[in-house]
Amino acid sequence: MDFEPSNRQKHIRTAAREFAEGELAPIAQDCELKEEFPKDLLKKASQLGFIGVFFKKDYGGLGLGYLEHAIILEEFWRVDPGLGQALAQAIFGSEQILLFGTEEQKKKYLPPLARGEWVCGFSITEPEAGSDPASATTSAIKDGEEYVINGNKVMISNGSTANFLLVFCLTHPDAASKSKRHSVLLVETDRSGYKADRIHGKMGVRPSDTANIYFNNVRVPKENLVGIEGNGFMQLMRFLDHSRVAVAAQGVGLAQGALEQAITYVKKRKQFGQTLSSFQVTQVKIAEMATLVETARSLACKAAWDLDRGNPNTQVSAMAKWWACNVAVRVVDEALQLHGGYGYIGDYPIERFYRAAKLLEIYEGTREIQKLAIARRILGT
Ligand SMILES: Cc1cc2nc3c(=O)[nH]c(=O)nc-3n(C[C@H](O)[C@H](O)[C@H](O)COP(=O)(O)OP(=O)(O)OC[C@H]3O[C@@H](n4cnc5c(N)ncnc54)[C@H](O)[C@@H]3O)c2cc1C
Repeated sequence: MDFEPSNRQKHIRTAAREFAEGELAPIAQDCELKEEFPKDLLKKASQLGFIGVFFKKDYGGLGLGYLEHAIILEEFWRVDPGLGQALAQAIFGSEQILLFGTEEQKKKYLPPLARGEWVCGFSITEPEAGSDPASATTSAIKDGEEYVINGNKVMISNGSTANFLLVFCLTHPDAASKSKRHSVLLVETDRSGYKADRIHGKMGVRPSDTANIYFNNVRVPKENLVGIEGNGFMQLMRFLDHSRVAVAAQGVGLAQGALEQAITYVKKRKQFGQTLSSFQVTQVKIAEMATLVETARSLACKAAWDLDRGNPNTQVSAMAKWWACNVAVRVVDEALQLHGGYGYIGDYPIERFYRAAKLLEIYEGTREIQKLAIARRILGT
């Protein structure tokens, strides 16, 4: 066992930190207020190799692993969760193509993502199917050489900005098992019958696009099937083993950023004639926060390491996602508390971090769903 990052991983962390501090920090608050994401930021990030590091070189990536991806996401979220989210989500769902796509699909769709020219997304959630995706009813019916898609998805990242989406569709409604009824289809968003309504005024991560989307007789060629018909649910579960590790890294980054803001503040702020950092209560808080962050990072790295060894571990991915996101919520709460009223009125970035954190315990499976996944594996239920 070796806990020491490689020189390359250290270099990637330093480069991602420099990029985040130089490019994200100065515009973060403005982008949050305007709900904007400058497209050239994605281009710059991709030119430095930060987008799709785990894609093979043949598909425009660096041929590295999920651990390197996690390091980059952590550094982006440490500086700003909103822009970090927009950059992270630019390739959200691409793992479906990597894991299950044909060679043609990989060559066609992955390189423009890695170059920062295209953005994608994965649309699963529906009004009546959130934590229970196997109840999704958006249908894809075969008609000759095409599928015809009808239905409605909600809260979809990049719904109004993506060039294409992976769409979790009902293709075999009569299959006896609920987990054999769905398939994943790739839908280009310029196809006739596709509509997206952007959601404004989200609690946090406002530079990142979220939309409700509608499919009205959207036709895609049968070649747009990703993976195997009826295998969509299993493909979704494999995907979540990966994406939950990415979300865990986001949680670590947010918690680390909040911790650092708290440290800076308590060293400066004086009350009762002393800095806040001189009170033992504050010292205990900082020690607890730092320890929580360290445990979250260790678990997230372990989960990424499992993936990179070709050994996806649903239990560890779910543990990493739940724990790191819970740590983020707890640490940012204490960090804001330490800022007092100045944290609440928005004088400091901690307010933005606080609003962003809650998302981590909701998407890609709520914290309750993570615990159910963990318990199911432990108890064999
Ligand atoms: C900003 C943002 C971006 C998003 N991006 C995407 C995206 O790109 N693609 C996508 O498909 N979705 C996306 N989502 C949707 C997200 O994945 C869902 O909100 C999430 O899966 C929860 O579903 P739900 O909101 O319907 O809640 P529900 O499933 O209705 O859950 C409500 C509550 O009930 C609990 N609950 C549900 N079932 C159980 C159970 N069996 N036992 C115990 N408790 C339970 C949940 O834990 C939760 O606390 C996004 C959401 C947000 C807010």
